[in-house]
Amino acid sequence: MRICIFCGIFVNGGFSQEPKPKIIVGLVVDQMRWDYLYKYEYNYGEGGFKRLIREGFLCENTLIDHIPTYTSVGHSTVYTGSVPSIHGITSNNWIDQKSGKLTYCTSDSTVSPTGVETDMGMQSPKNLLVSTITDELKLATNFRSKVIGVALKDRSAILPAGHFGDGAYWYDSKYGRWITSSFYMNELPEWLERFNEENKATTYIKDWHLFKSPDKYQLSIEDDNEYEGRWKKEERPVFPHMITDFIEDEGFIILNSTPYGNTLTIDLALEAIENENLGRNLRGVPDFLAVSLSSPDYIGHKYSITSVELEDVYVRLDRELERLFNYLDDNFGENEYLFFITADHGASYNAKYYSDMGGVSGYFDEKVILSKLNRMVESEFGIQNSILSLINYQVNFNYESIKKSPYMTEDLKTFLIKQLNDIEGVAYVVDLIEGDKQFIPFEIQNRIANGYNRKSSGEIQIILEPQWYTGKKNSTGTTHGSWTSYDSHIPLIFMGWGIQRGKTYKETKMTDIAPTLSSLLQIPFPNGNIGKPIVEVLEN
Ligand code: ZN
Ligand code: ZN
Repeated sequence: MRICIFCGIFVNGGFSQEPKPKIIVGLVVDQMRWDYLYKYEYNYGEGGFKRLIREGFLCENTLIDHIPTYTSVGHSTVYTGSVPSIHGITSNNWIDQKSGKLTYCTSDSTVSPTGVETDMGMQSPKNLLVSTITDELKLATNFRSKVIGVALKDRSAILPAGHFGDGAYWYDSKYGRWITSSFYMNELPEWLERFNEENKATTYIKDWHLFKSPDKYQLSIEDDNEYEGRWKKEERPVFPHMITDFIEDEGFIILNSTPYGNTLTIDLALEAIENENLGRNLRGVPDFLAVSLSSPDYIGHKYSITSVELEDVYVRLDRELERLFNYLDDNFGENEYLFFITADHGASYNAKYYSDMGGVSGYFDEKVILSKLNRMVESEFGIQNSILSLINYQVNFNYESIKKSPYMTEDLKTFLIKQLNDIEGVAYVVDLIEGDKQFIPFEIQNRIANGYNRKSSGEIQIILEPQWYTGKKNSTGTTHGSWTSYDSHIPLIFMGWGIQRGKTYKETKMTDIAPTLSSLLQIPFPNGNIGKPIVEVLEN
């Protein structure tokens, strides 16, 4: 920070003398919508989100250019500048079209768990087909830069750390421990063993009281409402949430759905910096710490985006950001680290809340519709269970059973597209193999094309109307996954080394983040990159 000689106010200190930042800290806040920067601003302190808005460069119109807008896909796109069609991570789970097997994005049967005996450790980035910005940094510095990924969710730690990461650490919600896999190492580092022994996961499982007094949460709806989920032993979904009473029934995973999941993750991130000596490398050789905060997503899913719970999470996250910035300032100097914050996707209003308020919305009950379609195909063509799944809003065929019949998938497709078009809430039904002859807005077509990968996508894409999503009628909480702006408009702010304060409302895309970082660091774009450096950030 320095003082402007003309107006006397504090301004960002401008370019550092150093040729590179000491460390890059990337923060993905799972399910953070762009509007949360401003909606909850009246409850933020000065050193967290407000500091980012004051000192950073804000890309206010950053959009996701693929579907589905899910966690693994978003994290992969942020770090590769690429889209699912190219980078291969088309969803959290997909049906492998050749084998018909349900596949988790980071599962890898060839690796073994490190630090735990459960299969939560059998994971690696092998399904990610392209390099990440973190991979390119390793390559460009002859592997002298260190790269570490940290998140409660396995996929959110693994995918950003790329193929050459020194470590990716995630939370085993069965045992309340941080773990990794043999892809990275065969034993946990001594500092992480110690961290696990301190049992912070246990100490952070505590009752959740509001951070501020209840009258301070003006922009959230009444705490007691029918749109929020409850714990098994909880009568009403209201504060205080007596987490310690529920732990026996719910297990350690309950931590994920409290704000203390963020605290634990930031604690671990700071421990990683300290113990792995991040940011203290040779001059011009930066390290990269990729952090993802998963709890806001768990909380959004449970309580929806209008809840006091969600507002409280962001009020507390704001203080966590301040803690992180203070640490980075003290240890590296204000303009010696490069920080960016973004999200993997947004979220929608609870569909029932939205229609209760007078809006148009609804639920697409995937299970009911799947069995209905299978019954229809059976009576028309005599083929049993011809559709394996409607996962990712796609029709995934059961090729084994279709093969035994005289019919072709093309016959079934024509029939199913017709049937699907008649289902309430369906906007478009698109043949993913043949392309489409319907008039569909380019924005939607483009997101479908970017999300389609023939090895892991089904043959028919279902696009729902806005405010419709999968789930049982009147489900509580919320979800995401669609092309719409509530799911695809994300925050993007850069701050620190090489960044002047400013903002742009020009359209920028999630794929532009990685090439912008490449340009700042003067290293190659990731090898599947289709994004463009955000010129306003670089030339401001
Ligand atoms: Zn997510
Ligand atoms: Zn989610």
